Amino acid sequence: MVDFTRLEDINFAGKTAMVRVDFNVPVNDGGGISDDTRLRAAVPTIKALQDKGAKIILMSHFGRPKGKVEPTMSLGFLTAPLAELLGSPVAFADSCVGADAKAKAQDLTSGDVLLLENTRFHSEETDNDSGFAQALAALGDVFVHDAFSASHRAQASSEGIGRILPSCAGLSMARELDHLSQALEHPKSPVLAVVGGAKVSTKIDLLQNLVTKLDALAIGGGMANTFLAALGHDVGKSLCEHDLKPLALKIMDAAKKANCSVLLPVDVVVAKDFAAHAPHRVCGLDDVAPDEMILDAGNQTVEQLADAIDRAKTLIWNGPLGAFEMVPFDTATVEAAQYAGRRVKEAGLIAVAGGGDTVAALKHAGAADMFTFISTAGGAFLEWMEGKPLPGVEILKQT
Ligand code: ADP
Ligand code: MG
Repeated sequence: MVDFTRLEDINFAGKTAMVRVDFNVPVNDGGGISDDTRLRAAVPTIKALQDKGAKIILMSHFGRPKGKVEPTMSLGFLTAPLAELLGSPVAFADSCVGADAKAKAQDLTSGDVLLLENTRFHSEETDNDSGFAQALAALGDVFVHDAFSASHRAQASSEGIGRILPSCAGLSMARELDHLSQALEHPKSPVLAVVGGAKVSTKIDLLQNLVTKLDALAIGGGMANTFLAALGHDVGKSLCEHDLKPLALKIMDAAKKANCSVLLPVDVVVAKDFAAHAPHRVCGLDDVAPDEMILDAGNQTVEQLADAIDRAKTLIWNGPLGAFEMVPFDTATVEAAQYAGRRVKEAGLIAVAGGGDTVAALKHAGAADMFTFISTAGGAFLEWMEGKPLPGVEILKQT
C-alpha cells in the first residue's frame, strides 16, 4: 500500500488537476454544514496544488441522488465556506460534465479553484461508465485522489478517471495510506486489534483477515456475546447472533492456528433495560440472568485489555466495547480508550482507529486526539481491515 504515486512526484505547473474530494458533509436541519471536517481535509491538497501552479477542479458526490438531479443535494452551498477556508474564490459548475463545466475549466488560470456539481447526479458515476469517466478526464490533465473514504468504490470520479489520466494521491489520502500501512502492512510487533461493535455478521471478513495478521485480538461489544455463547455461556437476552456461533468457533480456531491470542470479556455489566442509567450490576460470565443483557465489559476485562495494550507496540481499534451511547455503559470504552491514548504518549504505542461509531466513541472518551491516527473513513477503513484491495487506491499504483 505504501507504493503509490504522490503529489510530489508530479509536475503540476500550468496543468489542471482533477481532484476527487469527499464533500459528503453532514448537514443540519436548516441545510447548513454541521461539521466541516471534510472541507478542511481537502484544504492542504488544494493549497499545495495552488503553490505548484496548478488549476484545480474539485469533484465529489453528496448524498444519494440515484443518478438524478436533486436540487437538495447540490454542492453549490459549499463554495462559500470552502472559499473562506482557502482564502481564495471558488467557482462552481452546475453539472460535472457538459458545456458549462468545459467552459469554466477552460477559463481557469493557475491557482484557480472550480467545484463541480454532485457527480452522483449522473448514474454513470456509480456505474463507473468509461464514457463518463472520459468526459471528466477531458476537463483536466492529472487525477489527484484525495478521498480515502470513497476509495472502496470503483466509480467514475474515483477510479474510472484514474484509468485515463496520470494519477496520484492527494495529501489527505497519502497521510491515511501511510498511517494504515504503518498499522497493518508494516507494523511494529506485537500488534493488537480491538474489535467491538454490535454484530459479528458485519465484521466476519474483518475478523477472518485480522487473525492471520495479529499477535492478539480483543473482541468486545455486542459481538463478543456471540463468542461467549459459542463457548457455552448463557448470555440471557443480550444482543447475540446465535446462528453465528459455529463461525465464532471457526474464527477462534483460525486464530489459534495463526498464533493470534483471542481475548474475550472475563466479566460483564448487565441490565434489564436497554436504556441510559438502567439499573445494572457487574457479574461473571456464568451469572447472567435470563432477563438480563450484557451492555458493557466489566472492570476486570478492562484491566485485561490494559495489560494487552501494555504488551503491544501497535494497536488497531474498531468498534466500541459496550453500548457507549448510554451512560454508564460507555465506561469500558472510555477507560480503555484513555488508557490506549496514554500509552501513545508514554510508551510510543502506535494507535490507529476507524469506523463511524468508533470515532464518535473515542471523541466521547476524549481520547481521539491522543491516538496516533484516526481514519476519516467508515466503509473504506473496514474494507482495508478486511484486507480487500481498494479500487481507488489500486489505481494510484499504476502510474
Ligand atoms: P463502527 O461504526 O465503529 O464500525 P459498529 O457499528 O460495529 O461500530 O458498532 C457500534 C454499535 O455497537 C454502537 O451503536 C453500540 O451501542 C453497539 N454496541 C456495543 N456493544 C453493545 C452491546 N453489548 N449490546 C448492544 N449494542 C452494543
Ligand atoms: Mg457503525
